[in-house]
Amino acid sequence: QAKANGRNTMCFFDPAMQAVVSARAALDGDLRLALAQRHFELHYQPQVDAEGRITGAEALLRWQHPQRGMVAPAEFIGAAESSGLIVPLGAWVLEQACARLVAWQQQPRLAQLSLSVNVSPRQFHQPDFVEQAMAALARSGADPRRLKLELTESLLLDDVEASIEKMSRLNAAGVGISLDDFGTGYSSLTYLKRLPIYQLKIDRSFVRDIVTSPADAAITRTILTLADSMGLSAMAEGVETEEQRHFLNRQGCRAYQGYLFGKPVTAQQFEQQLLDVASMAACPS
Ligand code: C2E
Ligand code: MG
Ligand code: MG
Ligand code: MG
Repeated sequence: QAKANGRNTMCFFDPAMQAVVSARAALDGDLRLALAQRHFELHYQPQVDAEGRITGAEALLRWQHPQRGMVAPAEFIGAAESSGLIVPLGAWVLEQACARLVAWQQQPRLAQLSLSVNVSPRQFHQPDFVEQAMAALARSGADPRRLKLELTESLLLDDVEASIEKMSRLNAAGVGISLDDFGTGYSSLTYLKRLPIYQLKIDRSFVRDIVTSPADAAITRTILTLADSMGLSAMAEGVETEEQRHFLNRQGCRAYQGYLFGKPVTAQQFEQQLLDVASMAACPS
């Protein structure tokens, strides 16, 4: 490009900055290609009730990179969010999730499962997000009551009224809304009471040291009390040990997710786990 101040040149020359910019551009190109070539897949992590029974799963995006192997979302969601690629990528995730729900609906042992899908702010703020979600549900035939959306509080930094209105429409259609990573973001209690949500997810950062840190224990207790008094469910994420589970249970937590119950795995592995448990329960030893 001949233009002196073209799109990819900078006003001042900073080699480190330039390297960051071109790395971002390369990642961007890779992501576009990956979406076109279907190099993404969803993994499923179990969510359990107080008795340890699997009630559903969270769908977690994975990038199967031909050279780099499996890439975790932390390495690309941010980039996809700033480039806008999160919009088509998120649409693909919703479509896959609906297809999975339909597969579950057809198997008696899986039919009661719910599936939680993460939706990033930029995707949610698309003017037609609700219509897109409803269309994906309708096209697939998935039951809206089995689909849950995980939103973060940061979403409320932009256009609170429109966001609440969107959540209400989803909620009215049967799609449950959960507030992810609760306590780490912009938690205004003023808004919280107006949100048509059914669940708060207690962030992993509070759960990690819950047994040894009085501060983390106090925060968790507060979130559980808050949820309870607002008639919301609370799910602890990142539960890795029996001690954490026991501690949370004593504080009144009734829903859990974490490596203690299962890591994110492929759909096939997740479904097999459930069918194995079901057949074990069916033939007592
Ligand atoms: P999140 O929604 O809070 O998801 C939970 C993360 O914690 C997942 O990381 C999960 O693998 C991890 N995790 C669960 N249990 C444990 C545990 O016991 N110990 C530890 N150390 N980690 C645990 P993951 O899959 O790397 O995803 C990271 C984040 O990327 C997610 O956080 C979510 O914000 C985002 N993400 C993932 N998939 C999607 C997607 O399809 N769309 C969007 N917009 N964001 C996604
Ligand atoms: Mg989540
Ligand atoms: Mg979370
Ligand atoms: Mg988290």
